[in-house]
Amino acid sequence: MAALSDFDLGTLESQFQQWGLKAAHARPLLRRFYDADGCLDYADLPLDEFGRSTLRTLDRQLPPRQSKILYRHASGDATTKILIGFTGGGAVESVLMPAYRPDRAAGCVSSQIGCAMGCDFCASTLAGFERHLEAGEIVEQYLHLRALAAGAGRRLATLVFMGMGEPLHNLPNVIAAIQRIAHPETGALGWRQITVSTVGIVPGIDELARSGLNVHLALSLHAPDDETRSRLVPVNRRWPVQEILAAGFRYARITGRVLNIEYCLMRGINDSPLQADLLAHLVGGRGAHVNLIPYNPIGAGLSGKVYVRPEAVEVESFYQRLRLGGVVTHVRRPRGNDVSAACGQLAGAIR
Ligand code: SAH
Repeated sequence: MAALSDFDLGTLESQFQQWGLKAAHARPLLRRFYDADGCLDYADLPLDEFGRSTLRTLDRQLPPRQSKILYRHASGDATTKILIGFTGGGAVESVLMPAYRPDRAAGCVSSQIGCAMGCDFCASTLAGFERHLEAGEIVEQYLHLRALAAGAGRRLATLVFMGMGEPLHNLPNVIAAIQRIAHPETGALGWRQITVSTVGIVPGIDELARSGLNVHLALSLHAPDDETRSRLVPVNRRWPVQEILAAGFRYARITGRVLNIEYCLMRGINDSPLQADLLAHLVGGRGAHVNLIPYNPIGAGLSGKVYVRPEAVEVESFYQRLRLGGVVTHVRRPRGNDVSAACGQLAGAIR
């Protein structure tokens, strides 16, 4: 355990006991930490409440945080990308996006440094996989974003695991982070305000369903046929389209959540009328929600191939065809494109 952000109430209480401190101090300490968006200085804690020996032990043993913002880049559309460096080594990007409501914002966090999934059109995969993030490192991204939102007069109202990495490849830490982010005494964000996005790791989807967290699930589908999808998303060879959709709908049934399907549109790759019809055939009328994401340029992908975003009219016709096929769908407006903060553009260093 490297920092206060690594603890929930139970583990902090037992750590305090091990140190010979009063377990009853754990709760007010965590509360202060989260109330301050992680920006807590032990020197500011009231001596009469916590006592000298607690403060001295904390000072010596347990830094409040294990990360800091190394770099901050505001985009023309008010999206802000931050590069967060960890004392345990490495850095990831997180993104704050203004919501339609002027008093709210959405956050996007990373779950790993790098990514092992190898999707050919995504920047997060280009430098390979470095390491999983600890739960506390994920929690701290949330707290940094919450502070940033508050500074802009907004409340961080939703959080998506759509940054760098594959959340279900790091599921124990993602689950532990969500438990802290969603717990009323710590992060206090509702489960329903959290979305986990996955490339489609079937056992992970089932495990997330069993976790009882009841967060929203987004499936990164990107193609309705296995031939195209296997080229874009290599793990499709292990868990093909039918299997991940079945797992997604299973998840929706168990949790009562609407299944979100992400579909990144690339010209000449997955944007044909036939593919729209096949997608509609697979998911139409089943209560799923398809988000169309016009491809955000990243330069050449892993295979060296350069993908291209379809023209707006082409996106529109794909969208209309899905709707005609009975699919609830909308087109995601790209955010933060000018600072490489949009979907698929996050990488671990300043680009
Ligand atoms: N690994 C998880 C979390 C990443 S979420 C997942 O695959 O779902 C990021 C989303 O943006 C995914 O749906 C991803 O497929 C999509 N994406 C990746 N590269 C993109 C790009 N260049 N343009 C638009 N969307 C992209």
